[in-house]
Formats: sequence, structure tokens, C-alpha cells
Amino acid sequence: MSDYSINLPSYTIGAGCYRRIPYVTRFFGKTAVVIGGKTAMSKAKEKLLDGIKDSQVEILDFLWYGGDSTYENGNALMEQDVVKKADMIFAVGGGRACDTCKYLANELDKPLFCFPTVASNCAAVTAISVIYNPDGSFREYYYPKNANHTFIESSIIADSPQDLLWAGIGDALSKECEAIFASKEDELSHTPMMGVQISRICTTPLVEYGQKALEDLKQKKVSYDLEQVALDIIISTGLVSNMVSSAPDYYYNSSLAHCVYYGSTVTEGGEKHLHGEVVSLGVLCLLTFENALPERDRIAAFNQSMGLPVCFDDIEIKEEEFDAMAEKAMTTTEWEFRPKGANVTKESFIQCMKDTNAYGRALKQKK
Ligand SMILES: [Zn+2]
Repeated sequence: MSDYSINLPSYTIGAGCYRRIPYVTRFFGKTAVVIGGKTAMSKAKEKLLDGIKDSQVEILDFLWYGGDSTYENGNALMEQDVVKKADMIFAVGGGRACDTCKYLANELDKPLFCFPTVASNCAAVTAISVIYNPDGSFREYYYPKNANHTFIESSIIADSPQDLLWAGIGDALSKECEAIFASKEDELSHTPMMGVQISRICTTPLVEYGQKALEDLKQKKVSYDLEQVALDIIISTGLVSNMVSSAPDYYYNSSLAHCVYYGSTVTEGGEKHLHGEVVSLGVLCLLTFENALPERDRIAAFNQSMGLPVCFDDIEIKEEEFDAMAEKAMTTTEWEFRPKGANVTKESFIQCMKDTNAYGRALKQKK
């Protein structure tokens, strides 16, 4: 048995939480370079400068990350003198900015602090970067160390685009049912067992606080509900991701709900819809597959209350396209790691999409 280390993400949340930067970073250095998205940095700049005011921490510069998570952008940043000189990297923005900075900080072996400005994914705390080619196509996964600390400034989250939180909720809805489904036949060692247990707190807060959180965000209002949902999307799902992904040994991070999403990418209609939006319908498909009908009713009612999809009409996909979707799904990691005893076949996958479609359509009739 070889040895291993697990670094759990640590984090701070709240309106005004950037004030804690000097204390949290005190063992890591004095100078920082901020790297992030343009809009994100414009929203965070003043708060960052306020946060370090009258402290030992000095921000040397604010740099745009380059617009996409690519090795080319990361390498170009590494060449910059100010990046070489800074003790610490501050990553500001959404998933792609964080992913670029995780690559960069890992290659330079410098401490990394993340400042997510949207609550749409868990990139701020995960030990994985999605890397794209300069033409925008997917390149590969890169596995960096995770950030030393993440600061979630609630007032910046409250000022983020509504669609991103909405779709982020749809995506996070998948974590619990997928992690439990994908792992159900295996004997779990300590780390994935912890991860699967944490996944059990991912769904209910979204259902309980999601609607209010979205309303508050529309009014740019910081609230308990919004923070609960942001913590769910950024922290809880991120912890699970870090603990349940260890391909080729095991991979429980996503499953059939994401297979539906990957399938949708080969359809014209599906392409027009956000990742998390499609995944939330995939969740209903997975629950249909498992015959978990009360849970399916609960999530479908939630989806309806949120304007998330309950049938394939809602994402402009026709049943004639299910065959091609299944073909695509069968090429994914999720499919490879499907529980072998669960009878996930091309036919049963298509059937569960058909059954979900019929169920969702009937539900809409009732309204
Ligand atoms: Zn997802």
C-alpha cells in the first residue's frame, strides 16, 4: 500500500470576507498577483484592495487570464516578471479562470488563493483543471494541487448573472444521486467513503433554498438562502469531487445524469442549453432508471418551480435523437464506470430517457 495525502479545501464565506485575506495568507507570503476574468476583476478589485488595506499584503498587479483555460494562456502568464516575482497567486473569476490559475500555481509551485465570483461550479476548490485547446475544443484534464484557501464574497456572488446560479443549481442536483449510484456496488475505502457521505448533503439544501436564493440574486441581495446554495455548489460538490475521483481505480463523481448531458451535445437543440440545465433533466432520468419514484417526484417538482426542465421538449430534443445520444454517452468515463450490476445498456439508457420524457410531459399536462 503506497502512502497518500489528502488536502481538504479550506474556505471563508460572507459579505466582507476579503478582510480575512491578511490573516489567512500570513504564512504564505507578502506579495500577490491577481489573475482573473475582466468582469470578475472589475467586481472584485475594490473589495480586494479594501481587504488588504493597512496590512502586510501587497497586490503587485491585476492580470487578465487570457479568456480560456489553456496551457498557452497559463504559460504566457508564467513568463511575466510580475508572476515570477509574486509570492502568491490570487485567482479571481469563474471556472475557467480558476482552472488556469490552478495550472499556473501548480507549475510554479506557488500558493494559490481562489476568489470565485459566481456560484456555478466547484472549480475554486477542486484539484482538477479542465484544459481546452486554443480553438476552444476540449484538450484534457490536468491535476494540480487544490487552492490553499477559497474566499467566497457573498455580495459578489449576489451580483453575478442569474443564469449561472440557476444552471449551477441544476448541475449540483446531480452530485448526490450520481455519487451514490456510481459507487453502490463497490466496497469503499476511507476517502471515497467520505466523499459519498458528503454527497448526501448536496440535494436537500438546493431544494430547500434554491428558489429563494435565485430570487435574492435577482435583487442582488445577500441572504442566508443564497449563501447556503453557494456553499452547496462551490464547497460541498467540490469536496465530493476531490474524494470520489480516482480513475482508473474508481470514478463516482458523475454518472448517468451527465451521460444525458454528453448525449445532448450531439443534438442541435441540446447545444442551445446550459450544462446544468441539461444535467438537471439527466437527474430525473437517473432516478427513473433507479425506479426512485418519490425522489423523482420531489426533484421534478423542484425543477418545475425553478423553470428547470422536466422533459426533453424543454431542451428541444426529440426522441428520434436518443439513439445518437446513447452512442455518445457510451464513449464517456461516466459510462465506463457505471455500476456493472445495474444493467446499464444502450437499450435501458434510451428507455429511461423515454420514460422520463413521458413522465415529464404528463406532469406538465397536470399543471
Ligand atoms: Zn456537471
